[in-house]
Amino acid sequence: MTGSDDSTEPNAEESAVETARRQLERAAAHLDVDEGTVERLRYPKDVYRVTIPVERDDGTTEMFTGYRAHHDSVRGPFKGGLRYHPDVTEDECVGLSMWMTWKCAVMDLPFGGAKGGVVVNPKELSQNEKERLTRRFAEELRPVIGPMKDIPAPDMGTDPQTMAWFMDAYSMQEGQTEPGVVTGKPPVVGGSHGREGAPGRSVGIITREAIDFYGWDIEETTVAVQGFGSVGANAARYLDDRGASVVAVSDVDGAIYDPDGFDTNDVEDHDETPGMVSSYDAPESLTNDELLELDVDVLIPAAIGNVLTGGNARDIQADMIVEGANGPTTSTADQIFEEREIPVIPDILANAGGVTVSYFEWLQDINRRSWRLERVHEELETEMLRAWDAVREEYESRDVTWRDATYIVALSRIAEAHDSRGLWP
Ligand code: NAD
Repeated sequence: MTGSDDSTEPNAEESAVETARRQLERAAAHLDVDEGTVERLRYPKDVYRVTIPVERDDGTTEMFTGYRAHHDSVRGPFKGGLRYHPDVTEDECVGLSMWMTWKCAVMDLPFGGAKGGVVVNPKELSQNEKERLTRRFAEELRPVIGPMKDIPAPDMGTDPQTMAWFMDAYSMQEGQTEPGVVTGKPPVVGGSHGREGAPGRSVGIITREAIDFYGWDIEETTVAVQGFGSVGANAARYLDDRGASVVAVSDVDGAIYDPDGFDTNDVEDHDETPGMVSSYDAPESLTNDELLELDVDVLIPAAIGNVLTGGNARDIQADMIVEGANGPTTSTADQIFEEREIPVIPDILANAGGVTVSYFEWLQDINRRSWRLERVHEELETEMLRAWDAVREEYESRDVTWRDATYIVALSRIAEAHDSRGLWP
């Protein structure tokens, strides 16, 4: 998967909506927020369900179900990914749209939260079928999306090509090219440079800041990264370039370990050559479970959700966890880490570089002016540091976890916007 704003995995122990509501309530308990606002934020503004007829290559017609959930738009247009996956449900889209509201707010982006998808296994579709599905889905959603209304992005099972078709279908019907209707497009049709590497880069930036916060020397810091894909490899290389010692990385087939640290540019990532990590000539091979339990300074789970659970949280030896993947820590594991005083820097802050560069892409599209890669990197650094500082201030001034501090920042911004706009009519 590449270029998503976010592709949050629901927590194994609770649904995405339950997680989003629990985190809302935890943050609200620390703030003097109007109860009516909290109540409003427990629900989506709208959820659209569409039926998508698609002609298969054999000439038959098949019907697919698609969703788009809009959670809250008090701070700006809705923003969030579109996933193609057999397990997509309305409830999941609602929960993930709420997570997007918090993520955009913590980054102070002028967006609200959305999420959508189609119940389909994209691997069972030909490229032509995928294109027809995407174009018809775009048409079905056309009344409720748009550069100033709701801006989708890629997520699980969708990619820059999907976004290019989506943008083309929308533009054809609008009678003008509208690159700002989606982000995560190929740069040749208005995509941003640096979009693909942005989530991993932001994980690297936030890890660097957290290392500094705890007074560690980055040159003495050991890091283990689960999942050497888009997020994991970019984060690992960012930290390696700044002197950290990346001692373990993994892919779906297993992990490799070198106590002296790898040259992360020498190990090819999952996209470059799937399976290359586990076949790399390393001093030691480990399982993915063993990687998670290594005695390192920083553990970055950057593969899939729900890998840190009640089952292994007591065996984790890392001194700090930075969430590269979405939802890698279940709520039980989170409680155990809190008891054990292991800081967990949450996903909605650490990997938010993706939606942040999506925002840059949207700015470039509506201004019809593309940015150089250097400018994207500079502005991403600025935005990540601004978000980090806001979260750090809450963390330092209250007796809360990093996750709570992050949600407190998000909720206070959203609540303030609701207060100032009021309830219509
Ligand atoms: P990717 O497909 O590029 O890489 C995933 C990596 O994890 C691969 O190395 C793969 O082999 C490995 N992996 C897959 N299943 C595994 C398993 N069961 N155990 C161990 N390793 C496994 O994916 P990505 O884009 O890097 O996304 C990784 C995580 O980050 C996901 O949770 C995703 O939701 C999240 N995320 C991605 C983006 C983005 O824009 N790419 C943005 C925000 C969050």
